[in-house]
Amino acid sequence: MSFVVAIDGPAGAGKGTITKLVGEKLGLVNIDTGATFRCVALNMIQEHIDIQEEKNIEEMLNKIHIEMDSDGKIYLNGEEVTNRIRENDVNDLVSPVSVLPVVRNKLLEVQRNIAKGKNVIMEGRDIGTVVFPDADVKIYLDATAEERARRRVLQNQEKGIECSYEEVLQGIKDRDKRDSTREIAPLKRAKDAIYVDSTNLSVEQVVQEIIEIIKKKA
Ligand code: C5P
Repeated sequence: MSFVVAIDGPAGAGKGTITKLVGEKLGLVNIDTGATFRCVALNMIQEHIDIQEEKNIEEMLNKIHIEMDSDGKIYLNGEEVTNRIRENDVNDLVSPVSVLPVVRNKLLEVQRNIAKGKNVIMEGRDIGTVVFPDADVKIYLDATAEERARRRVLQNQEKGIECSYEEVLQGIKDRDKRDSTREIAPLKRAKDAIYVDSTNLSVEQVVQEIIEIIKKKA
């Protein structure tokens, strides 16, 4: 038996930061599902595979190996790609790639396997609706697009990735639109998810609020 906390929400809502901190405080394994989609996009860039080339994508997915260690480092086919998957070329490709049924099917299996038998806090777009519809706790974490862009720019600066606010804001809006209007597993709040708006809250306040929600349900 495993205990599953699902955290869904749009890009830059703070899912990554919050999930990591809540996971550490409650002893839950932290799983970033966005990173798995980013690895697929990066692998396509590395192998020069176009989004139209379904056969090649399928072959690539048959060989793909994605690993996450307990420090949050991400490995694609044995190579550490933790920062590489946050760069602009991957940002631009990841959302169209995540629409492909062949990719979603493969990663659904990968994500369920990673969580098997563990107590996890898993963040993404469709965790509470598709990956774990019976999750013990479901949270939908949101913030305005402007606030999310501001946070992404700061996050990138800390990692030494150069970017402009306008470019990031536009990217976030484009991704929101694509993620929420796609046919398969769109970004949407599960009926039984608790809505948390982090726009005017500090990281500590959001962490506290989510810990209280989890404790009530546990
Ligand atoms: O969370 P992050 O911004 O890293 O996710 C990158 C992209 O991966 C999202 O914009 C979305 O297109 C896709 N994604 C998804 N389903 C998930 C997690 C991420 O479609 N569960």
